[in-house]
Amino acid sequence: MSFSIAIIREITPDENRVALVPESVKKLTDKGFKVYLEKGAGENARYPDSSYRESGAEVLENAREVLSRSQIILKVQPPTPEEIDAITPNSFLIGFLQHYKYPERIKKMAERKINAFAMELIPRISRAQSIDALSSQAAVAGYKAAIIAANMSSRFFPMLTTAAGTIRPSKVLVIGAGVAGLQAIATSRRLGAIVEAYDVRKAVKEEIQSLGAKFLESPLVAEGTGGYARELTQEEKDQQHKFMADSVGRTDVVITTAQVPGKKAPLIITTDMVEKMRPSSVIVDIAAENCRNCELTIPAETVEHKGVLRYGPLNLPSTLPTHASEMYSKNLLNFLNLLTKDGKTLDVDFNDEVLQKSCLTYKGETKI
Ligand code: NAD
Repeated sequence: MSFSIAIIREITPDENRVALVPESVKKLTDKGFKVYLEKGAGENARYPDSSYRESGAEVLENAREVLSRSQIILKVQPPTPEEIDAITPNSFLIGFLQHYKYPERIKKMAERKINAFAMELIPRISRAQSIDALSSQAAVAGYKAAIIAANMSSRFFPMLTTAAGTIRPSKVLVIGAGVAGLQAIATSRRLGAIVEAYDVRKAVKEEIQSLGAKFLESPLVAEGTGGYARELTQEEKDQQHKFMADSVGRTDVVITTAQVPGKKAPLIITTDMVEKMRPSSVIVDIAAENCRNCELTIPAETVEHKGVLRYGPLNLPSTLPTHASEMYSKNLLNFLNLLTKDGKTLDVDFNDEVLQKSCLTYKGETKI
């Protein structure tokens, strides 16, 4: 038997991505999978129904019809309670399921015997890099944060030598040099800015330097487990505050991306630091998604404080939906390869760390 796969329209407000793009659909239909698409599901990501039909998908009128015929449901955002009701028992559901935010939906999935796997729980191990949707989407967010910062700034990023004089390049400071931060550094450099970057993990120094940016050396090191940072103690936070104040004060643009797994984003830029910045400076705080890195950030809003513009964007990957969907779609394809054998058997090998750690519900049981 080969399986039917559902792609439905993402109805979460401001979500433009689609779980599978036509190129991935073609790969699945070539392997013998049947793919059902809800009419218009790829429209916001600029993939028309016709491109899915050409890739072998069948386009149906509504989500209910698509879900009732499918054994594998691929999503970007968690399904709504109504969508969960429409999923057939014993189906497999894969997406960013956000169990911490929607525990009651996870309970409902278990009750309805839906086998649910969360893309955000895929372990960050080398073998799982091609499935790592947190990284693929963080790269999109980092790129877009730099573009937004350049757009908000009243200054050029590059140095310009013109008949009207020489314009000095902007100074950009990137705080947090994980996947998003490194992409923000690379993009700001490509735009010609002078970039400095700061992280509490010393391991990123070489990566920062290889992108042509300067690593801000601080005596403070806070490496946690698994390649992540740990939360700072109060004493370390005070030390960080002292160290960062001058650096923030001498930059035109600050892009903040710092996160600590399982915690609210660390508060790094305080009001007094913002007040040291020149009027016309810009802060783009992409940690707004998980609290904030800057004390004055208001999620989804652009606000001004003493001439400094601050913006805390939400769901940045959705603002670049064509490529963000393409990358996510490839992550899902690779995950499906792990779950299915030759497209014919759905096989959950719980000895596999990737499947074991990403599973939320299986055969009526909650796994977290
Ligand atoms: P993240 O989103 O958890 O954090 C972003 C950055 O913020 C990190 O670099 C972190 O050190 C930094 N940070 C935290 N607190 C800070 C503070 N107080 N001040 C300054 N910076 C602070 O990180 P991420 O992008 O998800 O990736 C983190 C690391 O995970 C990577 O560098 C890598 O080692 C590992 N990783 C591994 C894989 C893989 O092997 N598949 C994939 C992705 C990431």
